[in-house]
Amino acid sequence: MSKYWSDFVSQLEPYVPGEQPKISNVAKLNANENPYGPSPQALEAMQLLANDDLRLYPPMNADDLKQTIANHYSLVKEQIFVSNGSDEVLAHAFNGLLKQSKPLLFPDISYSFYPVLCQLYGIEYEQIPLTDDFSINIEDYQRTNGGIIFPNPNAPTGRVLGLEAIEQLLRVNPDTVVVVDEAYIDFGGQSAVALINQHSNLLVVHTMSKSRSLAGMRIGYGMGSVELIEGLERIKNSFNPFPLGQLQIAAAIASFNDTEYFQQTCERIINSRDQVTERLQALGFEVLPSAANFIFARHKDTHAEALALALREQGLIVRHFKRPRIDQFLRITIGNEQQNARLLSTLQAILAA
Ligand SMILES: *Cc1c(COP(=O)(O)O)cnc(C)c1O
Repeated sequence: MSKYWSDFVSQLEPYVPGEQPKISNVAKLNANENPYGPSPQALEAMQLLANDDLRLYPPMNADDLKQTIANHYSLVKEQIFVSNGSDEVLAHAFNGLLKQSKPLLFPDISYSFYPVLCQLYGIEYEQIPLTDDFSINIEDYQRTNGGIIFPNPNAPTGRVLGLEAIEQLLRVNPDTVVVVDEAYIDFGGQSAVALINQHSNLLVVHTMSKSRSLAGMRIGYGMGSVELIEGLERIKNSFNPFPLGQLQIAAAIASFNDTEYFQQTCERIINSRDQVTERLQALGFEVLPSAANFIFARHKDTHAEALALALREQGLIVRHFKRPRIDQFLRITIGNEQQNARLLSTLQAILAA
C-alpha cells in the first residue's frame, strides 16, 4: 500500500503467474511453457534484425504478420488482430467487447486471469460451475449474458469441447460475443476458427507462447469477424499503437513458415503426454483426459499440496491451486523426455516412502 496509489489501484488483486525460479537444475513444469524452444528459423530471423534499423518504429499494423496468419487459417487480414501476448488480446476483448450491462459468463474453474480482468475493467461476471467430471456443459450457458468466454481446451483441466457444442452455443447466443481462448488447441481438439465466417460474434484467441514456444517474445492474436477486429483495433490504437516490435513480428512470421518444426514438436509433446498419463495412472493417479500440453491429476490417497512440496524439494516445480473443488489436483506441464522421466521416478519414490 502507498499513499500515492489511487483508490482503484489499492483495491486491485493482480494475477499471479507460475513462479520463475532462479535456481539451476530445476524442472519447471508449472507454467505450461514448451520444453523444446522456438523454431531455429525464428531465432535466425530475430538475429538478422538485431541491427540499426531498430531505431525506427515497427510497422504500425503488422500487416505482414496479419497476412501470414490469415493465410494459415484461410481468413483475410482484416479478420486478424495481433498483440503483445494473448493476455493483451484478452484485455482488449474484455474492455471493448465483453464489458456490457449484463454479466459475462465463464466457468468456475478456468483461466484465473479472467476475474482479474473483470475487476480491472469493472465487468460484472457469473462463474458457471463445471460439471462433476470437470467438463463444460454448454446448456448451462444458455442464459442472459453480456458475453461468454472459456479456454478450449480448458485450463487447468485440459478437457476439450467439440466443435458441435461450440457451434450450438453460438447458434443460441447470436447477440453477444463468444470468446474461445485456444491457448492449447494445437495439442488437441478442433479449432473454432472454422466457425468464424458463419458467426460474426465469435472471437478466437491464440498465443505463440505455448505450441510455438515463444513465451518470452509475447505474441498473441485474435481472429474473428471484421467488425470484432475493428473494435479491438480501436482499443489498441487508444492504448498502445505498437504492441509488437520488429523482432516479435519477424519471429512470429518465421515460426508460421516453419511448419515442420512446429508439427514435430507438438507431436512429441502429445506423445509424451499420453505416456505420462499412463504412467501416472499406474502410480494411482486419476488423470483428467487432456488435450493440452499439461495434465491435471489427483492421487487417490496423497494430498496434492504435500506432493507439490515434496516434488519441489527434489527440484521439480508443478502448479497447485488452493481453490475449492481443485485443491486435490496438481497441474503438471509436459516437459522433455528427460524431465518427464525425472518427474515419474521422483513421484514413484515419494509415494513409496
Ligand atoms: C498461457 C495462457 C494465455 C496467455 O498467453 P500469453 O500469450 O503468453 O499472454 C492465455 N490463455 C490461457 C488459457 C493460457 O493458458
